[in-house]
Amino acid sequence: MISQEKLLMDGKLHIFLLGSGGPMNNDKRVASSIAIIAEGEFLLFDVGPGSYRNVDVLRLPAGNLSAIFLTHFHSDHIGDLGEANMLSWVNGREKALEVYGPRGVEKVIKGFEIAYELDTGYRIAHHGTKILSREKSKMISKPIPIQNENERKLCFERTHLKVFAFAVDHSPINPAFGYRIEYKGNVIAITGDTIKTENLATHCQDAEILFSEAISYKMLNNIVSGAKKLKLDRYAKILTDIQNYHMNPITAGELAKEANVKKLVLVHITPYLPNENTEKMYLNGVKDVFDGEIILGKDKMKFNLGPK
Ligand SMILES: [Zn+2]
Ligand SMILES: [Zn+2]
Repeated sequence: MISQEKLLMDGKLHIFLLGSGGPMNNDKRVASSIAIIAEGEFLLFDVGPGSYRNVDVLRLPAGNLSAIFLTHFHSDHIGDLGEANMLSWVNGREKALEVYGPRGVEKVIKGFEIAYELDTGYRIAHHGTKILSREKSKMISKPIPIQNENERKLCFERTHLKVFAFAVDHSPINPAFGYRIEYKGNVIAITGDTIKTENLATHCQDAEILFSEAISYKMLNNIVSGAKKLKLDRYAKILTDIQNYHMNPITAGELAKEANVKKLVLVHITPYLPNENTEKMYLNGVKDVFDGEIILGKDKMKFNLGPK
């Protein structure tokens, strides 16, 4: 296992897929989160339920957590925000935690701060303010103003690491963002939850790695038919409704082609893929539309990119 110091300071861009699943809980994948570490900075993109534990399981440098970037406020993207803030503080974070996201991020942070207020007090009382200062326990909301879908807003720049936010179409969730990360000639793109739009391909252009959400509508519709037969109407309706604001795996492949990316990593994987057969069904047809590398995202997958 690579040491925390090397991870932070070896000049490479390290990427960890902490959560590759969607909102439907299962034993293979936790919800959305991607960690990026380079030149002393440790960034998290979304913190879905169950994902933060993988920061510790992978021995990532929690105390160095610099910032969190939220794509939108569906619970499968923000559920672990309180844990991320609390545990990185306990692990020695040296300053308040910046949390970037669409407008409304202030409200989300306020809620988590209230929920964790008593625990913050307990820990200060127990370990002392020298070890745990209240100032450092805080989160600072950083709403990113984006005027239109063509805008690519530089929202974070430290050393050679740049993060841009752009608007995606996850209506009726508005605004919702994707992110583009640039580091020494390398580009990583994260779609967040969205349908495919022309702008999305532009914002993801020439990425080394594209992390794209994808939900298999074909598989979902099989579940819907079964649910209807069992008169599980509520379940059938929800699984039908979600199909108008996401992408199919094949659509994600088309996006990867249009954006001319090298590697497509499918994430937000829905439905549950319990075995190889279902994995094949999920990926069916993607390689017919995209001839680059296609990776079915799995929790705790690692990637690294050297300077170009
Ligand atoms: Zn969503
Ligand atoms: Zn989602």
